[in-house]
Amino acid sequence: MSYQSFKIGQTLVLKITSDSGYSFPFLMGHDAVIVDSPNVDFVRSTVYAIRRHHQPEVYLKPIFIQRYSSKSPAVLGMLIDGFVDGSVDEDQLQLKTNDIFVRSLDLTSKVPAGQYGIVMKKALDLMYTRQTKVIEPVLDPYSIIGYAYPTVSMSFEPHEETEVLAALDWAEFNGYIWPDFVEKIYLCNQCSAGLLLFREVCPHCSSSNTYGEDLIHHFPCAYIGPISDFQKADTDALSCPKCNKSLHHVGVDYDKPAVLNHCNSCDSRFQDIFVKAKCMHCSHDTDVQYLQARNISAYKLTKKGRLAITEGLSDLDEKPHLALEEIQDEKTFEILLHFDFIHANSQPDWQHVLNGLSIGNINEFSAHFGGFKKQSLIRELADIIKGEMTLKDFVTINNQGHFIWTKRYSNEVVIDGEKSEPVSKLIQKLISENYNSFKMDLKQVVINYNECKSSGELMKDMRKKLNRE
Ligand SMILES: [Zn+2]
Ligand SMILES: [Zn+2]
Ligand SMILES: [Zn+2]
Repeated sequence: MSYQSFKIGQTLVLKITSDSGYSFPFLMGHDAVIVDSPNVDFVRSTVYAIRRHHQPEVYLKPIFIQRYSSKSPAVLGMLIDGFVDGSVDEDQLQLKTNDIFVRSLDLTSKVPAGQYGIVMKKALDLMYTRQTKVIEPVLDPYSIIGYAYPTVSMSFEPHEETEVLAALDWAEFNGYIWPDFVEKIYLCNQCSAGLLLFREVCPHCSSSNTYGEDLIHHFPCAYIGPISDFQKADTDALSCPKCNKSLHHVGVDYDKPAVLNHCNSCDSRFQDIFVKAKCMHCSHDTDVQYLQARNISAYKLTKKGRLAITEGLSDLDEKPHLALEEIQDEKTFEILLHFDFIHANSQPDWQHVLNGLSIGNINEFSAHFGGFKKQSLIRELADIIKGEMTLKDFVTINNQGHFIWTKRYSNEVVIDGEKSEPVSKLIQKLISENYNSFKMDLKQVVINYNECKSSGELMKDMRKKLNRE
């Protein structure tokens, strides 16, 4: 391998071609990179490899592409710093490289804590050094949702765009960015992919082998029938099959009140046609009403986001990434439980229990359906649990994804034997209805307050059991 490095003024440039190859340590010693290849795939994979690298000295490197075609690729264009034509515009390359370097000196090495901290850090670093103000969605046929956010998407595999949305939700929830509505799109309710085939289908047999005709209402004789009943072989004029009069003006002697559909497959006739969407990713076919709606926004940096770039943030600012109202953080939960436990002693008419729910294979679930789907599942679970609670009960979700909540019953209810379905059953039902055949490994734990001496002991027991020790 022969690496081609050369100097433009004081700027040391590495030229990468399909033949030269490159190594990251070698690349790190250069100020800028020119990728020079007519092979678009090679250019693309090189740019991604550099931008995906974990070290700022690599992922922030100024990249220029030798131009071979007049079209500039939208997504790639947002990840590079410019094109060079025939001869390199030396001043421009030097200026830009220097500018990026100077700005990179402001960056903090602190990474925001949390699941997507590193992903957002890279995106924000790139924005800061390139002085872009907005994380903008770009239409991208290679993206599984149809849109890409290049500076965020680059951290994921091409089929992981739903994770990109989860990362942006996380950053929004944590106050680094704020959204500006661009568009509402619909995603597959099984895998969150956005490439869908829409078809009009028969409501009886789901075949798309259908055709529609106008229904005609002839005023003088009140006959209603499909337009084909009014058509004659030898003329374009319409005449009524019942009274034989010719039809003249729509709205005057007849109108078209509706469309009548026929199915060639099962031969049924119907007025309302169904619209189904078939997912090109998982082939699930669903009624459009069940698709999940998702806002696609452009994101701007908040003050906190700008600070995170240059100053970093202390972990104290971090909130859990789920925007679940009424869910206590674990510390608050324990304080509430402490007082509830003491209070329970003076309420002999009530039974108090602590509930816990763990999902053993939540990671398998997200591998199956995507992280975006995992968050919506957790929201749905929280709703089921909240539906079970009284106004005095409270719930938390800890960082292992375990739900813990209190529940109280009056003794009369217990004696009457009126017991509601356990939450785990309701959840199993939700899963089998909405997530096909996925087998959720659920464990529900119930501990009565009077089995323990203190709220501390209660929580300890609960954690042990949820961790399946
Ligand atoms: Zn049919
Ligand atoms: Zn008629
Ligand atoms: Zn799908």
